[in-house]
Amino acid sequence: MHILLTNDDGIYAPGLRALRQELLSLGRVSVVAPATEQSAVGHSITLLTPLIVQPVHDVDGSLLGWAVEGKPADCVKLALVELLDETPDLIVSGINAGSNVGINVLYSGTVAAAIEGAFFGITSIAVSLEYRDPVQLDFAEAARWARRLIVQLLEKYRGSGRLFNINIPSLDAGPPKGVRVVPQGIVRYREQFQRRTDPRGRVYFWSMPELVPLQTTPDTDVTALAEGYITLTPLHFDLTDYRHLETLQRDFTTPGHR
Ligand code: MN
Repeated sequence: MHILLTNDDGIYAPGLRALRQELLSLGRVSVVAPATEQSAVGHSITLLTPLIVQPVHDVDGSLLGWAVEGKPADCVKLALVELLDETPDLIVSGINAGSNVGINVLYSGTVAAAIEGAFFGITSIAVSLEYRDPVQLDFAEAARWARRLIVQLLEKYRGSGRLFNINIPSLDAGPPKGVRVVPQGIVRYREQFQRRTDPRGRVYFWSMPELVPLQTTPDTDVTALAEGYITLTPLHFDLTDYRHLETLQRDFTTPGHR
């Protein structure tokens, strides 16, 4: 099996290293990842600057992968169209430092990379690890959990082109309570900005959203992760609101000329 591994924290991020180590037991792993951190860039792509690509070598001198001066979605496109010698069987994005649940799924570069893989019809999985300040992230243990879930998903969904979002709870309070298959939460978080003044007297702001949702809807990725479960959510990227499609088709006809 050939796996494409990417992320949004950059090719040198410890979460990617840990996951690569585990995925190597499943087959060949090619890494194509951003040269620098690209968290919360969502599904951005690079059109106005060159996508400089450089090989990155492991400590033993072997090729670890390719660092791309671009976004996570650029990395997946470049890997599939230009860099890899064959189409991978699976694309994995992560492990991200910090969860990607609720509406944050839509800001996530980690998830965007997996979505890009699904655009190409390849089974794609985003993996994130919850971060609770000031605890150290245990990527090695999270990667072992991720591998177990990925193996299970592959048994059923290898070659399906399906898209999955996995979140692993902070492991400082012990192992996860289990795995829950849950929908994405849609509640808003409290937006906060720190207002500061720079040395030249100009006002600037620093985005500091609180990662506590304003209300809680039970049985979503947000609540299950907070309760200590690994969350597994099937995603799709068709944004059509099918509940209202038919009504809108009925209500609207081509405007006539007057
Ligand atoms: Mn990130």
